[in-house]
Amino acid sequence: MTNTIHRFIQNGEYIVVDVNSGGVHVVDKLVYDMAGLLEPPLSEEMPERLIAELKDFPEDEVRECYGEIYELYKDKVLFSEDEYRKYADIAVKAPIKAMCLHVSHDCNLRCKYCFASTGDFGTGRKIMTPETGRKAIDFLIE
Ligand code: SF4
Repeated sequence: MTNTIHRFIQNGEYIVVDVNSGGVHVVDKLVYDMAGLLEPPLSEEMPERLIAELKDFPEDEVRECYGEIYELYKDKVLFSEDEYRKYADIAVKAPIKAMCLHVSHDCNLRCKYCFASTGDFGTGRKIMTPETGRKAIDFLIE
């Protein structure tokens, strides 16, 4: 299955993570429970079985909830597809999904409470050379 969600409860908050989009949704119990009962692709019409499966909730709230979940699905932030799956099949074994260049091992704000020793993690302030940056981009393109 490529439309993956992950649900968990943390400090009393109901959380649904849409793995492929990276969307993190803090939801109520009804959305949480319903998300666990759904499999994509979702249809615009709510599956009637949800009324019985969520019988602890009023029917109108169940219908409204499904509409909200469906909107998130249409916006591709819940039950979204793995956009990179197709590249895994046609390209290399481990396709690069993104590249983040750490161009500045420093920070000009120098906050006293900094988690990173004011930006250099206590290892000295460094800036990436243009040559290294170009090599990284060449590598990505290749
Ligand atoms: S906390 Fe550290 S990295 Fe963040 S802005 Fe302040 S000095 Fe920079």
